[in-house]
Amino acid sequence: MKRRDLFKSAFAVGAGLVGASALRPLYASDDMEFKGPDVPDVDAVKVTEHCYTIPAMGPHPTPDNFGMFSNPGFVVTNDGVVVIDTGSSVQIGEMILRQIKKVTDKPVVRVINTHFHGDHWLGNHAFVNANANVEIYSHQKCIDNLKSGQDKFWFDFMQNNTNNKITGTVITLPNKTFQGGEEFEVGGVKFKIHHFGKVHTDSDISVEVTTDKVMYMGDMVMRRVANMEDGSFRGSIDALGQISDMGLTTFIPMHGTPDDVKLINEGKEFMETIYSNVEVLYDEGLSDFEMKPIIMEKPFMKNVAAQWPGYEDTIGKFIVVAIKEVEQSMFA
Ligand SMILES: [Zn+2]
Repeated sequence: MKRRDLFKSAFAVGAGLVGASALRPLYASDDMEFKGPDVPDVDAVKVTEHCYTIPAMGPHPTPDNFGMFSNPGFVVTNDGVVVIDTGSSVQIGEMILRQIKKVTDKPVVRVINTHFHGDHWLGNHAFVNANANVEIYSHQKCIDNLKSGQDKFWFDFMQNNTNNKITGTVITLPNKTFQGGEEFEVGGVKFKIHHFGKVHTDSDISVEVTTDKVMYMGDMVMRRVANMEDGSFRGSIDALGQISDMGLTTFIPMHGTPDDVKLINEGKEFMETIYSNVEVLYDEGLSDFEMKPIIMEKPFMKNVAAQWPGYEDTIGKFIVVAIKEVEQSMFA
């Protein structure tokens, strides 16, 4: 084979795989290690009888925090562990597995990805390595988004933001789906899956641990202002209103710390404050940069939201997304 053809075929394979194989240099021998560094252990925090969360190492992905900027969760039952979100890399997935081992000898029987953003599923690779038959669940729309390019986008995003520390991570998609409404029991612990349509993305599921009156929220609510580009204000307001009325006592966000229903109500008020003001100001003919200082003066924004990480840098982007949604609603 000509060298040119050899390269062509190597890249053809690489483009589909993206992970370790694609990044492996052509001269690498089989036993050569080509993987980013291990992520240091972060002890899991026990939130309720069965529910744990592993706190993020920072609000944004950086080389220093290895891309560990969300909180993976897990639920310990008598028959095994249910994991909710797997972090941004195979290394973070491996770190999650080490923390689970400190708490229980039981195997991971089920993994759930709350949505397609890369800090919630790129660690799947570690769970498949640990158990080739592990069931990985998400909403079908999560798989659809990943298959249409979000997989590669998020892999590259994490590589770029961590100085390539996720090297070795192989893109590993969910292999089972939830549509919302499913109820099941694992080892004496009851679960219910919720999908409210488009909230933070069109693919969000939240995981109710009915036995503990807990809801793992995915990114539908967070005490952080980050990414609304794939979301809906009206969908968020509607979903958070429904969740607030469910009688649950503890809500575990994938960014920020767990809290009672105050977390949900604050998240809802944040979305309402932006969206309702954008509607009014849009009618008055204001542009996004004219709206921004007016909205930032609203009491909730000044007194509460302004304390959240990312607020100053990101609030303008939220207003742009809200304007787009107001415009779309006029034609709906
Ligand atoms: Zn997200």
